[in-house]
Amino acid sequence: MTRLNGQRMDANVVVLGTDNVGKSALTVRFLTRRFIGEYGDIESLYTHNVVVDGREQTLNIWDAPYSQDQSFVSLMCEKRVQWADGFVLVYSICDRASFNAVSRLIQTIKTTKDFLGLEKMPIVIVGNKRDLHHRRTVLSEEGRLLALSADCQFYEVSAAENYHSVLMVFHGLVDRIRESRVSAKKLAGIKGIVKSMSAVFARRRTDSL
Ligand code: GDP
Ligand code: MG
Repeated sequence: MTRLNGQRMDANVVVLGTDNVGKSALTVRFLTRRFIGEYGDIESLYTHNVVVDGREQTLNIWDAPYSQDQSFVSLMCEKRVQWADGFVLVYSICDRASFNAVSRLIQTIKTTKDFLGLEKMPIVIVGNKRDLHHRRTVLSEEGRLLALSADCQFYEVSAAENYHSVLMVFHGLVDRIRESRVSAKKLAGIKGIVKSMSAVFARRRTDSL
């Protein structure tokens, strides 16, 4: 859950996508600025302090494994959506199936979010392995279009070659999480006003009876 105490914010981020798209490479690049090549397939939870727009943030990042099993997917998705303040969904620009999987993941996350009665779930879509453009099978426009239709942010990056673009992914998500917190607060404020006004009117009605 996000906590906003003055300038400080804690946020939970889940990194998801099919195997081999570079989820771990992306996460490790963000945390250490380094690309080490091979990462194994261990599930990891990291805590990292960052400064975004002069504000200190603590990010908990869950580099999550992928499963094809649909019943497991829904169960895990519920757990993740409950825990998360935002998602980074990764595909490889050389792997069409990984792009299709991101599209399905968006649907699953949105359905689960609605089922749990949550307001908003910021999502960033990341097309990784941009350096392998000679092997590209997913066009940039396709990624951009998917993001547009699902109201997500979109970046194409190379975890192998570029730290800055990876940084933009996480900073972009932090901004979205902050915005959604502010609008949720405003909504709660409006609901509070409506509630107290209805209480006043209800009292007047009973007074006049
Ligand atoms: P994960 O299974 O999604 O966590 O993927 P990994 O982070 O383990 O990466 C899978 C493979 O892709 C590894 O061999 C990485 O070195 C490679 N890889 C990851 N990101 C990039 C990238 O941006 N460019 C290239 N060329 N290879 C990458
Ligand atoms: Mg991995």
